[in-house]
Amino acid sequence: MRIVLLGPPGSGKGTQAALLVKLLGVPHISTGALLRDAAYRGTELGLKAKALSDKGELVPDSDMAGILEERLSQQDVVNGFILDGYPRNLTQAETLTAVLDRLKLPVEEAILIDIDAEQIIQRIAKRAQKEGRTDDTEETVRNRLRVYTEQTEPVADYYKERGLLTRVLGDGTVDEIFQRIRSILSLGTVSA
Ligand code: AMP
Repeated sequence: MRIVLLGPPGSGKGTQAALLVKLLGVPHISTGALLRDAAYRGTELGLKAKALSDKGELVPDSDMAGILEERLSQQDVVNGFILDGYPRNLTQAETLTAVLDRLKLPVEEAILIDIDAEQIIQRIAKRAQKEGRTDDTEETVRNRLRVYTEQTEPVADYYKERGLLTRVLGDGTVDEIFQRIRSILSLGTVSA
């Protein structure tokens, strides 16, 4: 199954992606995690990405295209994948479509986790404490939400126009949200 997970920062995309990966046995491709790993290794791109993400800004599309293509060139993607954090704008959506068309592995489902801003700010504050993420201060969170509204929200329409989008209510427990996603994917309702 080839799935794109969409949703604002703090919507629980990463958590749901991890659960889906466990269930489906496909790779979890998180561009945020790839960038954090590059920053940890101290690469030039990793350090540049960290400076941008600490301000809540996006990393340039050209850099992201390189990261995406490199990851999608790995053999494990032929069995499917959960893509989390990409595409973040319409240019990236077009890039993704082009790369996956070339590989003959088009997106099959785009799932948008719908949640309101106030709930997000509370969730992100909790996650910042738990994971020690430096891009989770309140100012950064507000900027990330603004960037999401302006640049990433149109991506939902991009997939809607292609008949691939399903919205999932993002409130409730992790397990409740996961059950909603499972039912969209016709994976039954057994507990995770
Ligand atoms: P995430 O873990 O997906 O919330 O990503 C953390 C940060 O990495 C984001 O706030 C961006 O600065 C950067 N990032 C991750 N994915 C992308 C992307 N597809 N395009 C641009 N920047 C990204």
